Amino acid sequence: TAPEAALEIDGISKTYDTGFTALRSVSLTIRRGELFALLGPNGAGKTTLISIICGLVRASSGTVRVHGHHWTQDYRAARRLIGLVPQELTTESFETVWATVTFSRGLFGLPKDPARIEQILKDLSLWEKRNARIMTLSGGMKRRVLIAKALAHEPKVLFLDEPTAGVDVELRRDMWDVVRRLKASGVTIILTTHYIEEAEEMADRVGVITRGEIILVEEKQALMRKLGRKQLVLHLV
Ligand code: ATP
Repeated sequence: TAPEAALEIDGISKTYDTGFTALRSVSLTIRRGELFALLGPNGAGKTTLISIICGLVRASSGTVRVHGHHWTQDYRAARRLIGLVPQELTTESFETVWATVTFSRGLFGLPKDPARIEQILKDLSLWEKRNARIMTLSGGMKRRVLIAKALAHEPKVLFLDEPTAGVDVELRRDMWDVVRRLKASGVTIILTTHYIEEAEEMADRVGVITRGEIILVEEKQALMRKLGRKQLVLHLV
């Protein structure tokens, strides 16, 4: 176990019941505090990989360690360190922002900590909306609520599954600012994206996944120098 590793993903494969193999022996180490962008086309296996690491989908083989905690031998400790911001906006809720975020924290069996929730909502510019019902919020605010929910139990590693899919340019810039601030607070971030510019804008390192295989992992600068945008685009189609 590398002490500086946030995540050690080792030989993860996934074949669904349909017989379709979505991941082929994926191995990857994510460093603590880095922002890692996982880039890949539709159907490459990005969501499958994240779902496996977060315990939502069972891997066919392979292991994951989170800050050194083996994910099944030491599941509670490993899971507690992870936050997931899912792709879909399942936020047509009658609940208030405050109640929802507080509930998410409670799911981890942690004591109520109103001061902590207040800080999360303030950091995400949601404080003014704390008593609003989620269904009444704009799309941008709903995305912020999903992030607040994922942060409620104070994870050290945050997954953002296509945080800017289908959003307009203004909201995308807005999300980038939010993600940058999260990184500055010391959280390790793994985000999946189709957008090269998103990786270019924010990542420390970039991994490219196609057809269930990681075909490239590079420091962003080195990657951009080596390949240039055009060829990276070619990798993705
Ligand atoms: P996108 O960018 O479209 O979200 P992705 O890279 O996240 O794509 P996945 O959602 O992980 O890709 O899907 C990878 C492949 O696995 C796809 O071909 C998909 O059809 C298949 N797949 C996903 N979930 C299941 C499932 N429950 N049963 C069978 N096949 C599945």
